Amino acid sequence: MADTTESESRKLLVRLREAMAGDDAGQARLDKITHLIADSMGTEVCSVYLFRDDETLELCATQGLHTESVHQTRMRIGEGLVGRVAKYGKVVNTPDAPNAKGFRYMPETGEERFSSFLGVPIQRLGEMLGVLVVQSKEAREFSADAVYALEVVAMVIAEMTELGAFVGEGAALSPLHQQAVLIHGISAQEGAAEGHVWLHEPRVIVTNPIADDPQRELERLNDAVEELRVGVDKMLEVSRNGDKEQLQVLEAYRMFANSKGWMRRMEEDIARGLSAEAAVEKEQSQARTRMSQVQDAYLRERLSDLDDLSNRLLRILTGQGANTGAELPDNPILIARNIGPGDLLEYGRSLRGIVLEEGSVGSHAAIVARALAIPLVVNAKRITTEALNGDHIMVDGDQGVVHLRPDDTVVGAFRDKIAMHTKAQERYASIRDKPAVTTDGQRVNMVMNAGLMADLPSLDGSGAEGVGLFRTELQFLVRNQMPKRSELVALYKRVLDAAHGKPVVFRTLDIGSDKVLPYMKPTDEPNPALGWRAIRVGLDKPGVMRMQLQALLRAAEGRPLSIMFPFVAQFEEYRSAKAEVDKTIERERILGHVLPAELKVGAMLETPSLAYAPQKFFEEVAFISIGGNDLKQFFFAADRENERVRRRYDTLNVSFLSFIERIVERCAISGTPLSFCGEDAGRPVEAVCLAAMGIRTLSMRPASIGPVKSLLMRVDLGELRKIISDARHRGDQAVRPAVMEYLRGL
Ligand code: PEP
Ligand code: MG
Repeated sequence: MADTTESESRKLLVRLREAMAGDDAGQARLDKITHLIADSMGTEVCSVYLFRDDETLELCATQGLHTESVHQTRMRIGEGLVGRVAKYGKVVNTPDAPNAKGFRYMPETGEERFSSFLGVPIQRLGEMLGVLVVQSKEAREFSADAVYALEVVAMVIAEMTELGAFVGEGAALSPLHQQAVLIHGISAQEGAAEGHVWLHEPRVIVTNPIADDPQRELERLNDAVEELRVGVDKMLEVSRNGDKEQLQVLEAYRMFANSKGWMRRMEEDIARGLSAEAAVEKEQSQARTRMSQVQDAYLRERLSDLDDLSNRLLRILTGQGANTGAELPDNPILIARNIGPGDLLEYGRSLRGIVLEEGSVGSHAAIVARALAIPLVVNAKRITTEALNGDHIMVDGDQGVVHLRPDDTVVGAFRDKIAMHTKAQERYASIRDKPAVTTDGQRVNMVMNAGLMADLPSLDGSGAEGVGLFRTELQFLVRNQMPKRSELVALYKRVLDAAHGKPVVFRTLDIGSDKVLPYMKPTDEPNPALGWRAIRVGLDKPGVMRMQLQALLRAAEGRPLSIMFPFVAQFEEYRSAKAEVDKTIERERILGHVLPAELKVGAMLETPSLAYAPQKFFEEVAFISIGGNDLKQFFFAADRENERVRRRYDTLNVSFLSFIERIVERCAISGTPLSFCGEDAGRPVEAVCLAAMGIRTLSMRPASIGPVKSLLMRVDLGELRKIISDARHRGDQAVRPAVMEYLRGL
């Protein structure tokens, strides 16, 4: 169909619709469709390949290839020309297929007789469903017009697949959105939850991909775009004096909403026979495919703006989709591609669990989920395309696994797990107000890590004796602009009020490395974890640090205050930072502000160098907190963010424990209070070993206090220390096996 005209293309779509309206079963429909397409494109072959699973494509219908190969011929994604179309989401158009790069010969199909090959992806909103292929004997390259026509047809097939049109006898296709699905993601917050799907952005179902009357569809599209433009202009008006970043996003929206290219492509799609909503979706699909391939962060953001705009347009056209007004189901489990911390805080504790298709363990949404103690799985591929509102779902935050529409056996096993969790929680609640004293009478101070106001209620709920680490940067990270001093004063005051006299250790701004403030110019560093971060930024650009110190001093309103500086690598850095504190105090005094009754200024020990600082440092510093997450990554030279290496070295490695012991000894000489606030403090086995090495204050996530305390109360630290020491003398690499044996015998 090198000279495919628009009206021919439309005719084909109308014939396709008629084929769909008949009462054929799924396979017969697919067969009919391939026949129609080959006929109308003037090719000998038309084939439909659909995904059987994430990796495998199957020939599901063909006109022109050997019929015996239907449901027999399979290929992996990336394999052969068909596999390439599926892998890259790109058209393959070649006059000489057998000699094209990547060609794979499949004798059972008899395709070697055909020279030219045109394959287009069958995709819906970036979800690859399969590949549509036409082939012919005559060696020719298909015209741009023919490619376009086939893409439009592929779009309709995608919509039909979504609607379950090919399910049925012989089709060997299972219906979408009905069967049980197991998705492996990455755990970002532990815990187990059962509930019902609540889509942050519900799917829009297009029931009429083919237009009856193109003129009418054009009008519908124009009306909808007009409504969209008015809406964007209104939003712009409202935000005119507000947040600069939001304004920029809206400006970009407006640019797209007025983009001639975007409109033109959609109008062409309609002229080819698509309905207005199918045209919007076709362009959106292609933008999503591009989005997954573009590396440039700025371009990706723009494509994501376009995606958002398309969603709005679809909602206007179909009247579907907005969750507003709908009621959250019982035990809602939030499903989203990604979600910002602000939106998540709005849902708050009403959610039982969260599953994100993208997201990452260190994302701000993950930080909020952790603060709210809601099980979170990130990187759950395909979840937004598989799940429908109200679906039964089980989230295993410990394993990073999601069971969508689980079958009875899974439900049974999962509920057992939840029951065990609940039992354990009851046990922890019973010891909540008891001190953590080991069987040999050692008292361990249990404090918690926090960073958001939402964390503070956990102080009472968990039985924490204070806040050992308040990560102040979270307040900076969840905003779009630098917070003002007055806002910080109010916030820190609320934190201290909520602590009801329990001690709170505020850590000054720890940015850089993985924590990049959205409103700060990013620095291009070859190795950010070893770069300009934390106290290094604070000392080089003291403006923000001074503002924060002032805010902390004022918020204390005469109450005792503890401040610590992150990432101190040498004595001099601590001294300089402490000098800033002293200067700020002096200024506050002159300004007539009340000063804290007592001020302790400490340092985080996160680089091995500080452990070997002059003894004078240990004498001068008010307290030391070991930031185990960073310390461990530098001790073993293993990036804490790198999945490949981050679990390679055991915290219970003899070298690391000996190093901790050395720090304990040095602090003991000068009587410097010492705590440990990395993630390991919240892991029961690691925590008891740290206690055995002499650490007497452990700061952890609130949810870990129960399990850690429960184990501490059952161990004899003297005995444990002997076990560790014996393992060390034996030359064991890690003390874990010996420690586990002891713990099992308790
Ligand atoms: C640490 O490094 O152990 C720590 C507590 O700080 P963060 O995880 O915020 O870097
Ligand atoms: Mg750190």
